[in-house]
Amino acid sequence: MTCPSPFMTPEREAFRANLKRFFDDEVKPNLDEWELNKAVPWAMHERVSSFGVFGFGIDEKYGGLGFDDAFMRADYAELAFGCGASGFAAAVGGRMISLGPIAKFAPDGFRNTVLPEIIAGRMNSSLAITEPGGGSDVANLSTKAVRKGDKWVLNGAKAFITGGMDSQWFVVGARTGGPGIAGISLFLIEADTPGFTRTPLGGKMGWHCSEQAMLHFDDCEVPTEALIGPENKGFIAIMNNFNYERLAMTAGSLGMMRLCYEASLDWARERKTFGERLIDHQVIAHKFAEMSAKIDMIEAYVERICWAMNQGVMPVAEISKAKVQSTKALEYVASEGMQIFGGAGYLHGNPVERVWREIKVMAIGGGSEEIMRDLAVRQMGLAGQ
Ligand SMILES: Cc1cc2nc3c(=O)[nH]c(=O)nc-3n(C[C@H](O)[C@H](O)[C@H](O)COP(=O)(O)OP(=O)(O)OC[C@H]3O[C@@H](n4cnc5c(N)ncnc54)[C@H](O)[C@@H]3O)c2cc1C
Repeated sequence: MTCPSPFMTPEREAFRANLKRFFDDEVKPNLDEWELNKAVPWAMHERVSSFGVFGFGIDEKYGGLGFDDAFMRADYAELAFGCGASGFAAAVGGRMISLGPIAKFAPDGFRNTVLPEIIAGRMNSSLAITEPGGGSDVANLSTKAVRKGDKWVLNGAKAFITGGMDSQWFVVGARTGGPGIAGISLFLIEADTPGFTRTPLGGKMGWHCSEQAMLHFDDCEVPTEALIGPENKGFIAIMNNFNYERLAMTAGSLGMMRLCYEASLDWARERKTFGERLIDHQVIAHKFAEMSAKIDMIEAYVERICWAMNQGVMPVAEISKAKVQSTKALEYVASEGMQIFGGAGYLHGNPVERVWREIKVMAIGGGSEEIMRDLAVRQMGLAGQ
C-alpha cells in the first residue's frame, strides 16, 4: 500500500526488517534444496526461535517473550509464509499451534523444563486434532480416552499432523465424555509413550519441506496429569487456539500474494512482447491494479484485526471472514501472476508455480473456507443460533 499504515511503529519496522534479512540471506537461497530433501535442517528451528516468534503470549519464566503482539505475530507469518516456500513456515512453525494450550494448561513441571526447549527450537511439538474421519467437524472427533485408575487409555488416530514425525510432544484432542462439544479434552502426550506410533504422510502437492504424519493410539496409556485443561472443556480451548492459527494463515496468504505480485512485476518489466514490455500493455498493467488492490485490502483487514486483538478483543467473525478472503485473493493473485509469466510460470523453479501448489493447503488447513464462512455467520448472529 502506498499510503502509510496508522498501525506501523518503528519497533515493527525493525522487527520486519530483521526477519526479512534473515529470510533473504539464510532461507530463500536454500529453499529448492530443502523442498527436494523434504526437510528443513534442524538448526533452522533454533535460528527462527532466536527472533522470539515462538514466545508470543508466553511468560518469560517458561522461555516466552512475556508479552503478546498480534501485529508481530502477523508480521512473522506474512514473511515466513511469503519467503518462497510456505512449507518452511509449517516446518519450523508447526509447533506454534500447540504452544497456546501447553503454555496455558500443562503442569508447571513441564512448563518449567520442556516448554522452554520447545520455544528455543531444540524440541518440537504438534497439535493433533484432525482425524482420518474428518477435520472440519471437531465437535465429533472420535479418538477416545477412557479413565482406568490413575491412567487414561487412548484409542484412535489423527491425520495430517504437521511436524508429526519429529515432534517429541503432542497436544491431542480426545473424547473423554459424551457426544459433541461437551465431551472433548486435551492431552499432552510424549512420542515414546507405549501404544503411540506414527507414520509419514507422503505424496503432497506442496509444502514439500514440511512433513505431516498419521498418529495412531492403540491402548496408549498416559498418566492422569497428561490431561491438560479442564476435563470435557477441550473444545473451547481448541476453538480459542484456532484464532491464532487462522490469523497466521491469513497473514501468511498476504505474504504469498506479495511474493507472486513482486515476482510477476519483475517479469512484466523485463519481458517484451510485440515490441513493448509486458507492463506497458494496458491489459497487463490492469492486472497489477487488481492484484495490488486485493493485497491492500487483506493488509488493511489483517491490521484492523490485530489492533482489536491487542485491545483484548478476539474478533472471531472477522478472523474467519479474513481467512476466506485472503485465500480467495491468494488464488486470484497467484493465477494472474502465473498468467503474466506465461509458459515460464508453468515450470518448476518459478516462484509463482510453487505458490500455486500451496493455495489449497491455505484454503483448507486450519479451517476450510466453507467452515470459516459458517463460523462467521454464527458469530455474527445470522445463523445457527
Ligand atoms: C498440509 C496439511 C497440514 C495440516 N496440519 C494439521 C495439523 O498440524 N493438525 C491438525 O489437527 N490438522 C492439520 N491439518 C488438517 C486440516 O486442518 C484439515 O484438513 C481441515 O480442517 C479440513 O478437514 P478435512 O481435510 O478432514 O476435510 P473434511 O472435514 O472432510 O471436509 C471436506 C470438505 O467438505 C467441506 N465441508 C465439511 N463440512 C461442511 C459443511 N458442514 N458445509 C459445507 N462444507 C463442508 C470442507 O470445507 C472441505 O472442503 C492439515 C492439513 C493439511 C492438508
